Amino acid sequence: MSTTREHASRTYCTVCGTMVSRRFRPGPDGRPDATCPRCRSLERHRFLALLLGMLAPDLRDLDLVVEIAPSRQTTPMLDRLGARRRISLDAGYDSRDVDALASVCRLPLRDASVDLLVCYHVLEHVPDDCAAMREIARVLSPDGIALLEVPIRVGVGTDEDVDAPEEERLRRFGQRDHVRWYGDDIDDRLSAAGLATVRVTPPALLGDAAVRWFGLMAGEVVWIARHGSGAAPAMLAGGPGTGLSVALDALITDLDHTRERLDRARARADRVAAQRDALRARLDRTREELAVARRGGVLTRLRRAVHL
Ligand SMILES: [Zn+2]
Repeated sequence: MSTTREHASRTYCTVCGTMVSRRFRPGPDGRPDATCPRCRSLERHRFLALLLGMLAPDLRDLDLVVEIAPSRQTTPMLDRLGARRRISLDAGYDSRDVDALASVCRLPLRDASVDLLVCYHVLEHVPDDCAAMREIARVLSPDGIALLEVPIRVGVGTDEDVDAPEEERLRRFGQRDHVRWYGDDIDDRLSAAGLATVRVTPPALLGDAAVRWFGLMAGEVVWIARHGSGAAPAMLAGGPGTGLSVALDALITDLDHTRERLDRARARADRVAAQRDALRARLDRTREELAVARRGGVLTRLRRAVHL
């Protein structure tokens, strides 16, 4: 697998639709292959773009799309969904442009009014996350979809302390403004709030080859939530794969092999060109030696003629 990744010299950004030469640039924390050089999208933005494409049959004829804590990368892709209204909300001002300031625990939206709600990396900041989850369930329309993402550790329970000092938060939850690190029980919290969920990961949905090709994060988890309760079996890496993941795996693997053959052919062409250049240089030297020898022969004959 690593050989193929090292071999990949081009990749594709699903946010801005650009073929990127070589790899993506490092991410904010220095991790490799994270940032698109053109639109600055990160792995989660590129997975969201693909996820929205896959959910397209459920995202037609949208009235209201809501983004909580928007990013420069996600706003254009949500605009492209063609909803009649799109609203972005955040808890406070910063460099991002938002339509209104609001807490995710008290959304200024009517009941059952939102067809698509995107809420990435917000709930881990909110002291009463269960109230936020109930609020999301309240505003979702009957067929509405919420896409949620939070940091999670699989195999353990949620670790949280809303009163922990900043230094402790940094150590336990990864950031000074996080109040928890979610664990396996997040599905129970979402279910209790009235949201039925399924977890999806990039490799489960798209296959390992596509994760490399699109610069995604294999361990990323997104919750697709709708009205209801309970969690469907998660679509996690290592499962049977979807028709799409199998097809993309086959296509990209074949593309990688074609690139390897092309690289080998280029290397052969380079070697032949180097041999040709060496032969030309030798030929030039031989011609010069010949010319010198000829001039030497003429001089010898002239000297002989003079002495005669
Ligand atoms: Zn891009």
